[in-house]
Amino acid sequence: MPLTRWLAEYAWLPDHAEPTRDVLIEAEDGRITAVTPLVGGGAPMAGVEVLRDAVRLPGLTLPGLANAHSHAFHRALRGRTHGGRGDFWSWRDGMYDVAARLDPDTYLALARAAYAEMALAGITCVGEFHYLHHGPDGTPYADPNAMGAALVEAAAHAGIRLTLLDTCYLTATVDGAPLTGPQRRFGDGDALRWAERVSAFAPDDDHARTGAAIHSVRAVPAEQLATVAGWADRNGMPLHVHLSEQPAENDACRALHGCTPTRLLADHGVLGRHTTAVHATHPTGADLALLGESRTGICLCPTTERDLADGIGPARRMAEAGSPLSLGSDSHAVVDLFEEARAVELDERLRTRRRGHFSPVELFTAATVAGHAALGWADAGRLAVGDRADLVTVRLDSARTAGVPPVGAFFAATAADISHVVVDGRVVVADGRHRTVDVPTELRDAIEAVTS
Ligand SMILES: [Zn+2]
Repeated sequence: MPLTRWLAEYAWLPDHAEPTRDVLIEAEDGRITAVTPLVGGGAPMAGVEVLRDAVRLPGLTLPGLANAHSHAFHRALRGRTHGGRGDFWSWRDGMYDVAARLDPDTYLALARAAYAEMALAGITCVGEFHYLHHGPDGTPYADPNAMGAALVEAAAHAGIRLTLLDTCYLTATVDGAPLTGPQRRFGDGDALRWAERVSAFAPDDDHARTGAAIHSVRAVPAEQLATVAGWADRNGMPLHVHLSEQPAENDACRALHGCTPTRLLADHGVLGRHTTAVHATHPTGADLALLGESRTGICLCPTTERDLADGIGPARRMAEAGSPLSLGSDSHAVVDLFEEARAVELDERLRTRRRGHFSPVELFTAATVAGHAALGWADAGRLAVGDRADLVTVRLDSARTAGVPPVGAFFAATAADISHVVVDGRVVVADGRHRTVDVPTELRDAIEAVTS
C-alpha cells in the first residue's frame, strides 16, 4: 500500500492525558510511519504540499478500538429476550435456540453482518469466544474447524481483525454432567482432542490469529484445565476464560472443590499476564489479589452484565489490584465501546454514590491498547510509529458531541458518531458508511434466517 497521510483535527496520542490538536499521521503498508503534531509539539511545520495531500479527518481520531469479548451469534438475540422476567439462565435457553440453527453458511452471514456493525462502531479488532464447533448432534463437520473458518472469513469481509479464541467446552456443570441437547455442538470430548483440533487450524491471512479459551469452570473439569493452559502457553497465545459471572458458579465450585473459581484457576496454572478473565463480576477480596498479583487481565462487558442482570464487577478494585482492564460487547445487546467504557465509571458511581473513579485516559486505554493486548496484538491500539495503522474518527459536531471538549468524548459519543475507520491502512468506513457491507440489510436477513 502506498504512503497515506491524514490530518486529524484532534488525535489522542499515547501517554497523553488528552487529545492533541492538528496531528499529521502517515502510514505505509498498513503501519504508522510518522505522527507529527503540527503545533506546540516541537516538530517542524510540515510543508504545504504535504498538507494538501493529506486526507482531512475532522473530529477526534483515536487508535482502533478493541472488542475483547464477542459471541457473534448472540447478535440475533438483540431485542428478542426482553419480554418476560428471568435471568441469565432463562436468557441462555433462548441463546441455545439460535445456536441450534446455525451452520457454517448461516454463521458466516450472521457474523459478517455483526462484525460489520462493529466496524461501524470503530472496532478494528474482535476477540471471538468461539464454542459453536460441531454439527447439531455433536458430529464434527467434514472440516472440524469449518465454523471457525466461517468466523475468520466473516471478519475479512467486514474488514476487521479477529482473534479466534477457540473455546474448550466439555461439561455442562462444575461436577461434570455431560453436554446434552444444543450443548453437544460445543464439545470435543476432552482437552487433548480440543487441542488437536485447534492445532490443525491456522488462518492463512494476516487479519486473523488463534487464541485459546476455557469456557468456564462449569465446562472444563479441574484436572483438564492445565492441558488448555499449557497448550496456550506453549503456542504463545492469549487465553481467555469466563469467570464468576454468576454467584451460582461460585457456589457450585465451592461445593465441589472447596474453593472459588479464581482459586481453582490459579491452582491449575490458568492465571497470568497472557490470560484474560471475562466478567469477574462476583470475586472475593482474595480472588482480586490472585488476579492482580498474577497480572491477569479482566474484560468487563457492562452492557451485557446489565442486560443479563448479572451484577456490577468491582472494576476500581480490580485495577488497583494490578489487573489491566479491557472491554467487550459479549452478547451484543449493545455494540458501542463508548457505552462500555463509560459504564465502567458510571456503574461504580451507582454502587458507591461517588463520582470520579476512572480518568478519561484510563477508559480510553481499556478501549484501545489494553483490549488489543488482551487479544495478542501488541502492535495495535496506539497512534504511534510502528503500530498498525488503525484510525477511528469520532465526529465532534453531532447532536451528542457538539460543544463537548475532545477529552470528554468517552462520556458523550456513541457508536453512531464514528465517521471514519481505517484498519491496517485500509479505509473500512467512510462518512459513517461501511464501504462493502450494507449492514442493516445484512443483519436483518441473517437474523431472519436463524430466528423465523
Ligand atoms: Zn461471554
